[in-house]
Amino acid sequence: DASLRRIENTKSLNAFITVTHDIAHEQAKESDKRHSKGESKGELDGIPIAVKDNFCTQGVLTSCGSHMLSNFLPPYNATVVSRLQDAGTVMVGKCNLDEFAMGSGTVDSIYGPTKNVWGSNVPYEVLNSPPSKQRSASHEKSANLDEDWHIAGGSSGGSAVAVATGSCFAALGSDTGGSTRNPAAYCGVVGFKPSYGLVSRHGLIPLVNSMDVPGIIARSVEDVTSVLNAIAGPDDNDSTTVRQSFSNISLEETVTLKGLRIGIPKEYQNSSMSQEMIEVWRYAASILNEGGATVSEVSLPHTSSSIACYSVLNQCEVASNMARYDGLRFGIRGTDTSSTEQLYAETRSRGFNEVVRSRILSGNYFLLKRNYEKYFVKALKVRRLIKRDFDNVWNNNIDILLTPTTLSQAPRLSDFRQHDNQTQCVTQDYCTQPANMAGIPAICLPIRLSTDGLPLSLQFMAPMFQESTLMKTALWLQ
Ligand code: GLN
Repeated sequence: DASLRRIENTKSLNAFITVTHDIAHEQAKESDKRHSKGESKGELDGIPIAVKDNFCTQGVLTSCGSHMLSNFLPPYNATVVSRLQDAGTVMVGKCNLDEFAMGSGTVDSIYGPTKNVWGSNVPYEVLNSPPSKQRSASHEKSANLDEDWHIAGGSSGGSAVAVATGSCFAALGSDTGGSTRNPAAYCGVVGFKPSYGLVSRHGLIPLVNSMDVPGIIARSVEDVTSVLNAIAGPDDNDSTTVRQSFSNISLEETVTLKGLRIGIPKEYQNSSMSQEMIEVWRYAASILNEGGATVSEVSLPHTSSSIACYSVLNQCEVASNMARYDGLRFGIRGTDTSSTEQLYAETRSRGFNEVVRSRILSGNYFLLKRNYEKYFVKALKVRRLIKRDFDNVWNNNIDILLTPTTLSQAPRLSDFRQHDNQTQCVTQDYCTQPANMAGIPAICLPIRLSTDGLPLSLQFMAPMFQESTLMKTALWLQ
């Protein structure tokens, strides 16, 4: 009830597309019943969670923030959703996102943008107002594009705001180029991207199949770890999950940094990085060093090619993935049935926003027979080089990398919207995207506030499947 109340009290931030009152009440009742019998499904039993609206939830609208799927009720649950259900969690709702997770601000959803709670005018008393005062307290309009506020980051902005406002303890995001970590950083919470193949993508509506992973947003490293323990491991419905069974990560033993070698990749210091971010980065490196870790500068020479390479690969996979939305099998259907082509064309131009349509167009261009080698194959080769950079660093005895998560604090909407979606990705995803290219795990956590009072966040990256080291190091710094 407190969670649902908090969602209501922070409605003006527009974090949720659907609030699942009935499911939440039913699941909470079941959990109460178990607890009263002295039974429990584990540490997540009864814990309120939220789910990004690109994970299939049986019988519950799964819109991807798009007109195309504005009537889509999936007949099944994504694997991660059923695993959370099996762990006894209570789903309070489905969270807002950029259309089909294409974006980094949560400003491109047909349900309107999501506002950051930091720097917003939701007073603390409103967050905590009792139900009787709630009606009079929550009269603001939903986030509006005509006003200026700090963006929530994206594309999982709804999930990050849901956690940051205390509407739930954890939320699922998805991460293809930084979509879990970027909003977590801007909203001052912890964001985690697992190794590719550790957590099932079955039921996560695809953006870039070769890079997508379900992500976790929570308020602490411990909470993220609890959720990971519940959802990780092989899945027969996703052939890209690793076959080995997953052993739960335990954060119980005292964490020590003795012997840990931390690398600071010099190429991450981009010329657009804010001075405050550079200082926080230095500060964290120095306390890790004092804590017993060996901190040294390393080089990942192909870092700056990551975004260009990503934009080619993203658009090629998008062009292929979006072909399923033809107005016949999923979602909305156009009315012009004069020919099959007309029906496709009308459905798709009505169903998709400009960002999605332009990515489909560029993707098909890159995949033309005459361009295929020049763009797609070349981008795959560059991807290999980016991955190799990481391998070289690990082979040189580095255990973990420390970088900022974003180049600055959450920008204001007016500044963010000075650039188009493509250019937004160039700055927003600079530090996060390479981890998706290489498939490696990464976690970001807030370190301190900027002089404007907004969160500044750093990111750790580790070799494939080294989640345990990643969590323990992040816990130490937390
Ligand atoms: N900003 C990137 C994009 O728009 C990444 C999005 C994501 O990680 N889902 O494609």
